[in-house]
Amino acid sequence: MNATEKKAAYNLADYNSERTSFSWKNIESKLELGKTKGGYNIAHLAVDRHANTSLKSTLAFRFIQKDRSPQDYSYSRLKEETSRFANVLRSLGIQKGETVFSLAGRIPALYITALGTLKTTAVFCPLFSVFGPEPVFQRLHKGEAKILVTTSALYEKTVKQLEERLPFLRYIILSDLEEHQSGKVLSWSRLMKEASSDFKIPPTSPEDPALLHFTSGTTGMPKGTLHVHKAVLTHYITGKFVLDFHQGDLFWCTADPGWVTGTSYGIIAPLVNGVTSIIDQEEFDAMRWYAILEEQKVNIWYTAPTAIRRLMRMEIKPREKFNLGALRVILSVGEPLSAEAVLWGEHSFGIPILDNWWQTETGGIMIANYPSMPVRPGSMGKPLPGIEAALAEVTEDGLNFIKEPGKQGHLLLKKGFPSLFRDYLHEEERYHKCFTGEWYLTGDLAKKDSDGYFWFIGRADDIIKTSGHMVGPFEVESTLMRHPAIAEAAVIGKPEASIGELVKAFVVLKPGEPTNEEMKLDIIGFARKHMGPAVAPKEIEFIASVPKTRSGKILRRLLKARELGLPEGDTSTLEQT
Ligand code: ATP
Ligand code: MG
Repeated sequence: MNATEKKAAYNLADYNSERTSFSWKNIESKLELGKTKGGYNIAHLAVDRHANTSLKSTLAFRFIQKDRSPQDYSYSRLKEETSRFANVLRSLGIQKGETVFSLAGRIPALYITALGTLKTTAVFCPLFSVFGPEPVFQRLHKGEAKILVTTSALYEKTVKQLEERLPFLRYIILSDLEEHQSGKVLSWSRLMKEASSDFKIPPTSPEDPALLHFTSGTTGMPKGTLHVHKAVLTHYITGKFVLDFHQGDLFWCTADPGWVTGTSYGIIAPLVNGVTSIIDQEEFDAMRWYAILEEQKVNIWYTAPTAIRRLMRMEIKPREKFNLGALRVILSVGEPLSAEAVLWGEHSFGIPILDNWWQTETGGIMIANYPSMPVRPGSMGKPLPGIEAALAEVTEDGLNFIKEPGKQGHLLLKKGFPSLFRDYLHEEERYHKCFTGEWYLTGDLAKKDSDGYFWFIGRADDIIKTSGHMVGPFEVESTLMRHPAIAEAAVIGKPEASIGELVKAFVVLKPGEPTNEEMKLDIIGFARKHMGPAVAPKEIEFIASVPKTRSGKILRRLLKARELGLPEGDTSTLEQT
């Protein structure tokens, strides 16, 4: 294929013309939402719709087990199992809008729970299996969980001790228990055996609540964001335009459903588009990941900067050791992806890594680099067709929109797109504070260049004000990462009377590099040369590892709290290393 033919083969062949002609209404008619019995129901669109077509024996999910052997679920098997589970929920009295939680690793029961719950019009909320008792309690409590699906081991370790504090939790279903343990603690297989595999999805309206997701807790206490069935339109269209799903594709989203990416893109988007998803049940391991990409002939791979940074550090040349010829699109989300990482992707895989930006609150990808569009390394790309993004100064009197290219401001999205959250659970005031007129304030700062590409600056909460400059930590971190001895860096502002805040960098050195004064001076010198003295860090501290959330985001607020001797705040999502 030559370059023009290749571009034409992408679902989004021409960004500008697609943006001009796009309407959410057209997407609704394409999915025939008005005509089908399930209507807007996500699980109908993701599963049942395909199980009655030529896709019925196509694989929906392929679970990769510890020994890398596959466990397969076709669309028709997934329809049966999710219908069975929907009937289980019915028999247990679950009503529309009530919440069903999961606390499990990436096992089939989690995925069946998600889709079966959606079928009944109850609300599904996934939790990371590694959460300890307190974070689990907080979330079950806030979400008023009626049913929890988990494993025997997690029940014993985490849930059992919480039962008394969770009076509204009616049933706990254990995925690996042979027989019911009590009237409350039930066996998944027993319940499933007794349930019928026929389930008629009740009429579902676009505004019916569907999913509850807790944010990553990077800037504070995680918020419970509520999404409705209509969000599926965003999942569908971003699957087409950004992930470039085509029939027959094999897709691997490495995220756990405990983080919104692992649900929107680890479950819904690929299914709605009728492709096959790989789900690895193990944690990150560079050689395993490369082996999976090769063995499964993965076409589209969606991962995160934290994993990419780890792969970059290993200095393996993947294409020399593995046959990765099937890979067509690689994408990243969750944190800024440095220009260096984009170029590393190009060098290592022959294709650039496409960065895209979104949040738990937006339910799906909002700003992206598209396979057909030239990539500007370091940029998040352009807003999805159907999404309006803008930059503004937020003042007491309202919004001052920024028109000049290159000037930074608050990143805003125009309300009215399908997957925008409908609530922060039990935090109404906080929810309303996110909106000014018809705009949603994302809490991030960005700039836009003269060609319309957006560039991430930082979270409004993380911005460092030093000697009259506004410095985004990411900008400093990316430059530091280019120093040959540095493996990772995290940057904060430390209050300092004369200049407002002082830029301080916490640095992880590559193995074998000396942590001495000379190295500190060398790093400061390097930073001054590349960034100028106003922005370069004035203080360097060596640390063994950078604290991160479970979704791989740098927890700068934790470093800052420690630096200032303040309470650490919520650490429920802190990754234990
Ligand atoms: P909390 O809201 O609890 O502090 P969080 O914001 O990290 O946690 P998520 O919703 O998982 O929770 O993350 C969304 C945020 O992640 C965005 O607002 C942005 O700050 C950051 N982010 C996501 N993708 C990108 C990207 N491609 N480039 C830069 N930042 C990104
Ligand atoms: Mg956030």
